[in-house]
Amino acid sequence: MLAVADLILFWHRRDLRLEDSTGLAAGRALTPRIVGLFCLDPILLRGPGVAAVRVQYLLGCLADLQQAYHRIGSHLILVEGDPRQMIPQVAATLRPQAVYWHQDVEPYARQRDAAVAQALADLGIPSQTFWDQLLHPPDAVTTQAGRPFTVYTPFWKAWNRLPKGDPLPTPQNCVGLTPEEMNRVKAVVRRDLPTLRDLGYESAVELGVEPGTSAALHLLETFCADPIRRYGEDRNFPAIPGTSQLSAALKFGVVGIRQVWAASQEAAGLYPGDLEQAAIQTWQQELAWREFYQHGLYHFPHLVDQAHRRIFDQFPWDNQAAHFEAWCTGQTGYPMVDAAMRQLNETGWMHNRCRMIVASFLTKDLLIDWRWGEHYFMERLVDGDLSANNGGWQWSASVGMDPKPLRIFNPATQAARFDPEGAYIRHWLPELRGVDTPELLSGQMLPIERAGRGYPPPIVDHKRQQALFKQRYQRLTQGAALT
Ligand SMILES: Cc1cc2nc3c(=O)[nH]c(=O)nc-3n(C[C@H](O)[C@H](O)[C@H](O)COP(=O)(O)OP(=O)(O)OC[C@H]3O[C@@H](n4cnc5c(N)ncnc54)[C@H](O)[C@@H]3O)c2cc1C
Repeated sequence: MLAVADLILFWHRRDLRLEDSTGLAAGRALTPRIVGLFCLDPILLRGPGVAAVRVQYLLGCLADLQQAYHRIGSHLILVEGDPRQMIPQVAATLRPQAVYWHQDVEPYARQRDAAVAQALADLGIPSQTFWDQLLHPPDAVTTQAGRPFTVYTPFWKAWNRLPKGDPLPTPQNCVGLTPEEMNRVKAVVRRDLPTLRDLGYESAVELGVEPGTSAALHLLETFCADPIRRYGEDRNFPAIPGTSQLSAALKFGVVGIRQVWAASQEAAGLYPGDLEQAAIQTWQQELAWREFYQHGLYHFPHLVDQAHRRIFDQFPWDNQAAHFEAWCTGQTGYPMVDAAMRQLNETGWMHNRCRMIVASFLTKDLLIDWRWGEHYFMERLVDGDLSANNGGWQWSASVGMDPKPLRIFNPATQAARFDPEGAYIRHWLPELRGVDTPELLSGQMLPIERAGRGYPPPIVDHKRQQALFKQRYQRLTQGAALT
């Protein structure tokens, strides 16, 4: 048992909240002296594949967390640099009883954490870690043979059977650093919260989703109060705000996963209709997809830059730069694809149905390596998350876990089913607002009409390209077992 005066440093990473936090609740049960620490790691702030909008969201969440610490009587210390040096440096300055943090699934984070734990041990300072960002940690959901699942449906069944933890208490009445301790930290490492410009970005970007825990809890509450009842149907229609918009909050742990689960269970208790129950379960299945991909990355770290089905690292992609450019800028001549890419470019977020459509189009129509698309998404998404993005791309390209059946999305069919009035397309492609709905959805506009509206002709022929993809796919997989 720690003495009351003992200090616990809590190293925040993708858990930017006080509520429903495993490590903070455990720490507060031992001592009121809990002080938060966040390291602005240049690799995560300015490295390749970093989206300005995501950094902006992160900075907003840090400002919110600073205030939250202030309210409970403590502090969030900010430092900047390589965490492998900075965390031990702060610890050496303050000599806490222990440094706590939550475990992560990403290979970079795991290596970094092992190095930090070793450096702390060398200083004689213990560290303690907890699983927090998942309802069930990676080793808790396995096949009967004790192996990780690589197919979603059996994973979901096993995952869903396990009891889920309740939300954890928020630490209250804490005691922060003494002025003398604060001065010591300031002298060595402390840094004020930077702006986006301080970090080298040109200017502020507009966020479609408000950062911070109160905003995330408001989203959760609003969604579970009503839209969740129709999620089964509404989630497919990009013109309808039928999904929770919680992805950025879940990526940064601004809201606790147990709290999210509890809210969905509460809704399930309130809405007994069959359709409502099915809709709520569909949403819970999305939470399970999130965990499926995180478990996958934990067990198969090669996914970071290789296909799960390694044979696909030899797929003969065309990789035409001009086609990629047209896809990135929403100029492929396929209205559904272009509308989606413009939503991404303008807002930093894209509807899930559209993510599947554009990812299928990039890989199966343009025959471009899924990693190009994955990287572009990471450069743009406010919710860009290695495991979910990589999982979504590998799934869409049919190179990852759960590869069957071979899925190829026809943009015109998808538009007709999921944007039947053309509202989504018209919103993002103003130049096509006056086009009649059938032509808008099918994309069958006369060349003269396209030209008059400044909209490009289709850069490829869908039918031809999908046949080409299938041919190459079958050639590669002949003789190779589909796992
Ligand atoms: C190619 C591709 C790339 C993607 N990249 C990302 C990404 O970088 N970050 C990200 O969070 N999601 C990603 N997704 C999954 C999904 O599109 C988003 O999570 C979802 O659109 C976010 O909107 P929402 O919060 O309203 O979701 P909701 O429909 O309300 O779902 C609730 C939560 O469940 C999780 N979730 C939902 N669908 C998935 C899924 N298919 N895989 C993993 N988790 C899921 C998210 O945390 C989401 O916030 C990707 C999907 C595809 C096909």
